[in-house]
Amino acid sequence: MRIILLGPPGAGKGTQSRLLMEKYGVVQISTGDLFRENVKAGTPLGKQVEAIINEGKLVPDEITIKMISERLDRADCKNGFILDGFPRNVAQAEALEKMLKEKGIKLDGVVRMEVDDDKLVERISGRFTCSGCGEGYHDKFKKPAQADSCDKCHANGKFTRRADDNEATVRERLKVYHGQTAPILPFYKSRGMLKIVNGMAAMEDVTAEIEAVLKPDSDSDKPPPPRMCG
Ligand code: ADP
Ligand code: ADP
Ligand code: ZN
Repeated sequence: MRIILLGPPGAGKGTQSRLLMEKYGVVQISTGDLFRENVKAGTPLGKQVEAIINEGKLVPDEITIKMISERLDRADCKNGFILDGFPRNVAQAEALEKMLKEKGIKLDGVVRMEVDDDKLVERISGRFTCSGCGEGYHDKFKKPAQADSCDKCHANGKFTRRADDNEATVRERLKVYHGQTAPILPFYKSRGMLKIVNGMAAMEDVTAEIEAVLKPDSDSDKPPPPRMCG
């Protein structure tokens, strides 16, 4: 599996990446996570990007593209990868296309996760993460079984909330998404690579839809029909 998960902040890209990663033994490459790790570790890259991230703006392409190129060269990408949060504008999409060609890598598809803006704000304001293993949670939609313990790694009380998950920054990030990221949709549509899923559905249903649209015979750029229940 070699895919791009595309969607606004809070669409569920990280959540689906982790589910698919476990199921298919591929790696998740999240530019946001890579930047945050650098910020936390106080690296020169982290110092360069911290203020930009906290304002909800995009890190310059040059930095981001170089980071992705180096990441894709690591051995753990051989079995496949999920790009989460990259590309985020047309210049990055073009750079990625060139880079993959040079590296001899072919993508299986670009999955767009559609979620309404109001829902995104609700999702982001309730989001928190286990600092032990990175598992994502939500105050309303995905609470840990025990309030202060991670379901996955059982680390106690080690949950964090992102500095940029506040209402003002979220509004700016949504603006950036609609202005700069959404224009890459026609780029992939014109290449016949775009697949659309309903990101408003329950987490496990979104996973099933992603798997369905990635099947080679799937009718690519239309949302799949609702699944019948019972
Ligand atoms: P979300 O999961 O809410 O979409 P991310 O974790 O992907 O957010 O990104 C957090 C921040 O990191 C972004 O607001 C931006 O500042 C920076 N960032 C992440 N990916 C990119 C990218 N491809 N290009 C530029 N900046 C990025
Ligand atoms: P992204 O990586 O696209 O920014 P996340 O995967 O971090 O988004 O999801 C944002 C928040 O919404 C998290 O708190 C997550 O638990 C929750 N979430 C993700 N997918 C769903 C879903 N299908 N239904 C309800 N909540 C969800
Ligand atoms: Zn954990």
